[in-house]
Order: sequence, then structure tokens, then C-alpha cells
Amino acid sequence: MIKIAYERLEILFKMAEEEFSLHPERSHRYVEMARNIAKKYNLNMPPYWRGRFCKQCNRFLKPGFNSKIRLIESAVTTQCLKCGEIRRNLYKSEQKTRRRNKIESHTFQEGINE
Ligand SMILES: [Zn+2]
Repeated sequence: MIKIAYERLEILFKMAEEEFSLHPERSHRYVEMARNIAKKYNLNMPPYWRGRFCKQCNRFLKPGFNSKIRLIESAVTTQCLKCGEIRRNLYKSEQKTRRRNKIESHTFQEGINE
């Protein structure tokens, strides 16, 4: 049942993306529906779509059209241009793990050469 709900979320967001250029109101409605499903089954939003809607006014956000994305203090900030809601996504931890993986693979390779 949860799997079906996740599939529905994916479908709704994809439809929202497709409809946005022609019928923005419809894509906002799809976001609303997707959020209702997520609430009902207590699901996390799929990571890819997490930053693509406004939590406050339930609008689908398309960067360059109705949202503004800036890099401020090692965070991706997404601002909804309709209600002004700002959402920050830290990327410092991501950088850290990436760096750590790099070091680990490096030391591993050195071990082989010896
Ligand atoms: Zn908003």
C-alpha cells in the first residue's frame, strides 16, 4: 500500500511538472493532492521533489518562474516568490561525506601499491 502511495506521489509531481507551463493552477492542485497522500500515509516526500513545492502555500515551484534559488552560507535556499517562504537545504554535510569517501578510496589505492 505504501509503495502504491509513493508511485502516486511520483506521478502527481511529474504531472505537475508537465502541466506547469500551460496550466499552473493544475500543477498547484497536484501538489496539494500529493501532500494529502503523504500526510495520510505518513510518508516522506521523495528527495528529488522535496524542494519543488512550497510548504506554506502548496504551490509547485519552478526555478526561474516562481521560485528563486540561491547559494547562501553553504545552503541551497529556495524562495517561493508567491508567499516569500524560504527553505534552506544545507549541503555542508554532503560535501563532508563526499570528501571522506575520496580520502578513503585514496588510502585504499595506496594500500594496493605497497
Ligand atoms: Zn509559497
